[in-house]
Amino acid sequence: MAHIAFFNFPAVGHVNPTLGVVEELVKRGHRVTCTSTEYFAPAFEAIGATPIVYESPFGEFYRSPYNEEMMAGEGLRCLDEAIALHKQVSGYYGDDRPDVIVHDFMAWGARFYASEHNIPAVRLFPSYGVSETFNIAQKFPWSAPDDPQILEMVQRLVGLLPTFGLPGDMGAFVTHVEEVGVVFLPREFHYDGDSFDERFVFAGPSIKDRSAFQGSWQPKSDRPVLLISLGTAATGWSEFFSLALEAFGDTEWDVVMAVGDHVDPAELGEIPANFEVSRHVPQLDVLKHAGVFLTHAGMNSTMESLYHGVPMVAVPQMNEQRANALRVEELGLGRHLPREEVTVESLRDAVKAVAGDASVAERVRQMQATLHAVDGPVVAADAVEKRLAVTD
Ligand code: UDP
Repeated sequence: MAHIAFFNFPAVGHVNPTLGVVEELVKRGHRVTCTSTEYFAPAFEAIGATPIVYESPFGEFYRSPYNEEMMAGEGLRCLDEAIALHKQVSGYYGDDRPDVIVHDFMAWGARFYASEHNIPAVRLFPSYGVSETFNIAQKFPWSAPDDPQILEMVQRLVGLLPTFGLPGDMGAFVTHVEEVGVVFLPREFHYDGDSFDERFVFAGPSIKDRSAFQGSWQPKSDRPVLLISLGTAATGWSEFFSLALEAFGDTEWDVVMAVGDHVDPAELGEIPANFEVSRHVPQLDVLKHAGVFLTHAGMNSTMESLYHGVPMVAVPQMNEQRANALRVEELGLGRHLPREEVTVESLRDAVKAVAGDASVAERVRQMQATLHAVDGPVVAADAVEKRLAVTD
């Protein structure tokens, strides 16, 4: 059996989709090690993998409130993360060479390590894939090409790459495609999905029961359930939650609202009797019963919603979420409600419109069937094993 090393990126939206694949590989008898910040270690332990705990320069960045403006400097932070990850795991893996490195596309440290030690690699895309011809950042740019922080990052990275045996060329670094890439989306949802060739496997989201570390949830009545969440990162917009309380308080909905770590439920004032408000909810359990999901359209939430056949009202907070929200609307899977248009009335109208739209329901059913037709963890684990069979 092989030693499979996952090099992760320390954000919930990146780690969650990997859990099903890790669990599947453990079940197949492989030894799986996963780079992990302290926070994620229990999730890996719970599924039989060994967390390799390291100190991330991101600190609590992805678990603190942030907005689009604060994403400036993301490239530089990724570079610092990559350098730290490479340095810290080098000590660990020195005597314990992995047979394959499976890495998040933003965990550049994995690319340094794999190249340096000539270890085959598989790249994971928790969101849109990147190929020689497709990069979501070209469709929805999140920084100007002449942003000084980007220029600084490129200069530093290009200088560093040759020390790991990689070409000192940013273009080549960005467009290099691994022999195996796993995209945690269905091809049907992906923009320009047909442009990806046989090197890419569309595993869909690897959705696995998380109750072992998240607890579970059951409906209290047979009234329709509305789930409201802005995800785990950009959750500091407390006014949104106040508007939602006003829009859906004392209505026909049983509302489950997760306000995240950055809003204190106590500050929201009186909670109507039809609301359950908490910082976090076992989202998969709630989606099993939900009629509509009012979501920030993070990729995981979007996929989890479709997997459970739940139409969405998407209120994106950041660029990539905007891409998802627009795709949701384009494919008739729900509605996009831009942040600046959020009011009590627009929230109510959008939820009502989506809940009562038979064509949305039908399209969501079709996408749900597409998602269920693929066993994500199995397909992704097969792709990883395929790479094991190859010697470079
Ligand atoms: N999540 C959850 N409970 C919550 C909020 C979020 O289980 O109360 C999970 C959700 O199911 C998803 C992830 O956290 O798997 C959020 O990822 P997403 O890509 O949607 O958004 P992000 O938090 O990265 O913005």
